[in-house]
Amino acid sequence: MADLIVAADLGGTHLRAALVTADGHVLKRADHHTPPTATRDEIVGEVCNLMTAVAEGAPERPLGACVATAGLIDADQGKVIIAPNIPGFRNLVLTDPVAARLGIPAYIENDASAAALGEFRFGAGRGTRHLLHATLGTGIGGGIVIDGRLYRGAKGLAGEIGHIILDPAGPVCNCGSRGCLEAMVSGVAFAARARYLASTGKSARLREIAAGREPDASDLHAAALAGDAFAEAEIRHGGHLLGLGLGSLVNVLNPDAVTLSGGLLGMGAMLLEPLREAMYSLAYGPAAGTLIRLSELGDDAGILGATAVALERLGRG
Ligand SMILES: [Zn+2]
Repeated sequence: MADLIVAADLGGTHLRAALVTADGHVLKRADHHTPPTATRDEIVGEVCNLMTAVAEGAPERPLGACVATAGLIDADQGKVIIAPNIPGFRNLVLTDPVAARLGIPAYIENDASAAALGEFRFGAGRGTRHLLHATLGTGIGGGIVIDGRLYRGAKGLAGEIGHIILDPAGPVCNCGSRGCLEAMVSGVAFAARARYLASTGKSARLREIAAGREPDASDLHAAALAGDAFAEAEIRHGGHLLGLGLGSLVNVLNPDAVTLSGGLLGMGAMLLEPLREAMYSLAYGPAAGTLIRLSELGDDAGILGATAVALERLGRG
């Protein structure tokens, strides 16, 4: 029987847990919807309950457990410093209750960093040694694998690629800076551009598609597909900016591959063509050979990422 890990993916509104083998096969899974009104203790309790539920009846005792979640994470201390999607999670050591309930070592990791290690071990990053992973969703996150190990940096914050500056005069970012990649291109940034196009009357199509509500990033894409030139230009410009950001990082890190995941990939070639073009136009010398690959893990990125982190921590990486 393969080594087993109990993995969890804790988001703002959902919690997933799974019993996973060391080669990435999910043997058992459970999902839970987290109500926005849930207290900190209720959420911690639910994480423990769901992880216990998937561990029960395991063919052998799992080796360890890991929770992947968004936010500033002190992985070495097992602590959530701040979780933007879960208001009560501040300076919370989450690994202690999980380890106590399951009776096995427990770990925690930032979800984008975990996703990077998950792609490296089980997904689009297989066969590489050095990997840059970017999560392109509501926000922009990332993770870095160097020589087959997750790179966490001095304080565990490495990989925050959404906060490199592309335009010092650009829009204000959540982090307080101006013109961060995330403030320029992300689900939130595209939604802001869509609202601008609709409210200024530049895009009648977008207004029609949104039908009275505030348009979002997927409305922007729908308008572009329906032939709206302004909407398409926004998405292409966004892809270009992402390519500039990723190309700059490729020149710093010289990874074998850049892997991409997240909801913005649904924008397809309209986003990815200018992204590729800009990234390769920047790439210096041998960096021009860096591959771009799309995630192969889909909705399981969180639990397979958590599995990969637990295996690495347990010395099975
Ligand atoms: Zn920022």
